[in-house]
Amino acid sequence: MTGKVLREIGEFGLIHRIRKWITSSDPGLIQGIGDDVAVIEMGSRALLVTTDILIEDIHFDLSWINPYRLGRKALAVNLSDIASTGGIPKYFLISIGLPKNLPLSFVSSFYQGLKKEAKRYRVELIGGDTSLSQKIVINICLLGEGRRRDLLFRKGARVGDDLFVSGTLGDAALGLKILQKKGKIKGAEGLVKKHLSPCPRVELGQTIATHHWATAMIDVSDGLLIDISHLLEESGVGAQVWEDRIPLSSPYQKWIRSFSTDPFQFSLTGGEDYELLFTAPSEMGDRVSSLACSLKIPITRIGTILPKKRGLRIIGKDGEDYTPARLGFEHFK
Ligand code: ADP
Ligand code: MG
Repeated sequence: MTGKVLREIGEFGLIHRIRKWITSSDPGLIQGIGDDVAVIEMGSRALLVTTDILIEDIHFDLSWINPYRLGRKALAVNLSDIASTGGIPKYFLISIGLPKNLPLSFVSSFYQGLKKEAKRYRVELIGGDTSLSQKIVINICLLGEGRRRDLLFRKGARVGDDLFVSGTLGDAALGLKILQKKGKIKGAEGLVKKHLSPCPRVELGQTIATHHWATAMIDVSDGLLIDISHLLEESGVGAQVWEDRIPLSSPYQKWIRSFSTDPFQFSLTGGEDYELLFTAPSEMGDRVSSLACSLKIPITRIGTILPKKRGLRIIGKDGEDYTPARLGFEHFK
């Protein structure tokens, strides 16, 4: 075998190729490869399907996360993908690869965490698969449903729309940095918690979708800029983002300088925020603000959608715009 290796094309270059190799003409497939969730027509409703994998020492480190939290997180990351469509999560399957010397108590705590998260979001475990593996591998496939006309996709953003994001950004990536470098820091527990125990925005996603004023939505899992670029690509548009509008938490602002000279580094390119990023026509701004108030979730207008040829521009504090060199996390790179 010769030619390119995966390092040269990265995770997204690979997915792009897979998408070209496997094309589908199934008329019942509303959305195949290329969004957070696959969407299959079921009359006026749609079946939603998403899957995510977690691999020991790639996605998690057992010296930081206990099995209970790992169980919760494994389901939470899939729930976040369903949240990005505004759909209702319903059933899931879980396949696990486990080393033979793993204590049974680890697996039972993992399932306790899984059960707790499943109860919180009213989803049911319906099956899975189990295998021997050298490292722990966890794959969940989550099914959901939604009304066809309510669902949101990465595609749909229009020139002139505003770009909004929920919550604050960069906390989880900074929390991970703290775990990697220093362990426990007093006052930074919220950042570490955001990394270990993400809260998928399922109710927020459903509320946004049923109001019908958003035009596109994605969850922020690999980093704000990379996820914006996915939304732009699928929508065929460009965008500008104002750096000083990026929502930052107080602990983030307090600790970022100990880890980076760039105060926006983790908020723009750090992964695992599991917040929702969506676009809506600018006249919807007041409605978005009142939704944020009523749900008590911050929603911030961070940019606007531009024509495709403008690409993705970041406007710095000095008013100068620049094209970011690095967008976020990508496997193989
Ligand atoms: P997310 O970060 O929202 O989970 P991904 O970036 O993992 O989304 O995936 C983007 C799209 O590519 C999704 O439609 C996903 O189903 C699809 N995809 C990812 N990996 C593969 C693969 N190995 N084969 C086929 N489709 C894939
Ligand atoms: Mg996603």
